[in-house]
Amino acid sequence: MSVYVFGHTTPDSDSIVGAISLAYLKNQISNEEYIPSRQGEISPETKFILDKFNGDLPFLKTSYAGEKVYIVDTTDLALLPKDIKDATVVGVVDHHKLGDLTTSTPLECWIRPVGCSNTIIKEMYDHYRVEIPKQIAGMMMCAIMSDTVIFKSPTCTKVDIKAVEELASIAGVNDYKALGMEMFIVKSAVEGASADELIKRDYKVFDMGDEKVGVGQLEVVDLSVFDDKKEMLLEQMKKIKEQNHLHSIILLLTDILKEGSLLLYVGDDESLIEKAFGKKLEDKEVWLDGVLSRKKQIIPFLQPLFEK
Ligand code: MN
Ligand code: MN
Repeated sequence: MSVYVFGHTTPDSDSIVGAISLAYLKNQISNEEYIPSRQGEISPETKFILDKFNGDLPFLKTSYAGEKVYIVDTTDLALLPKDIKDATVVGVVDHHKLGDLTTSTPLECWIRPVGCSNTIIKEMYDHYRVEIPKQIAGMMMCAIMSDTVIFKSPTCTKVDIKAVEELASIAGVNDYKALGMEMFIVKSAVEGASADELIKRDYKVFDMGDEKVGVGQLEVVDLSVFDDKKEMLLEQMKKIKEQNHLHSIILLLTDILKEGSLLLYVGDDESLIEKAFGKKLEDKEVWLDGVLSRKKQIIPFLQPLFEK
């Protein structure tokens, strides 16, 4: 029986590349066939990575009842297929807080507080002494630079930097930071995309207490690309909030050069933002200096406010 390897909904580069790199590794060391898949459409950044290193697009599959699965980059039910309870989870690779996924059979767990799932997968290749193909190394290197914002994110560890250095040498890329910057310039292209596409490009819904909070993030090299888009983004955020019965929806417009984020908020309680981050919203927005990571600098400050 085959095992599907996939990451979270609205897949980012870590989820897509992780499916590819982990499936390849598993196919070298196990008797079962591992198949990379994905739960949704890929972002322009991920397309850039696949094109650059001749990666095959994992195939789209959203239902997994009766299948064996190996999950990358999340353990949150909200980010997993609706029928995940009817699948057999054989393993998990993740670098987020432990979510609410439970299993009925023993599983393999590779969970580490590092900057990227592909950093852990690199450690798995080393552990099993499997050589990483050049093209896969290039994609893994890009995924780590994406998740760690080229090492600027507070989630980045020495292990991530070392992994990128080693992967770059396998991939034959000398100036990997320049490639990382090229990747973020691709990521910054917002022209022609609808407000809905932009909000959902990197979007997650978090269960907080009894409420649901949607948090999207767009990382760009220059925030001015949003100057004439904020209004339409806020309008669409309001729609998404209403349609999905969210308590709040937040969009982080992250400037990777200025190293901070403009937070846009639409929700039932504007004081939430001041309580969490000590700064008041003005016109539904506030600049948060030094904030680059949703996982480390946003969610942990919001979550406790919903718990009684
Ligand atoms: Mn991810
Ligand atoms: Mn990740």
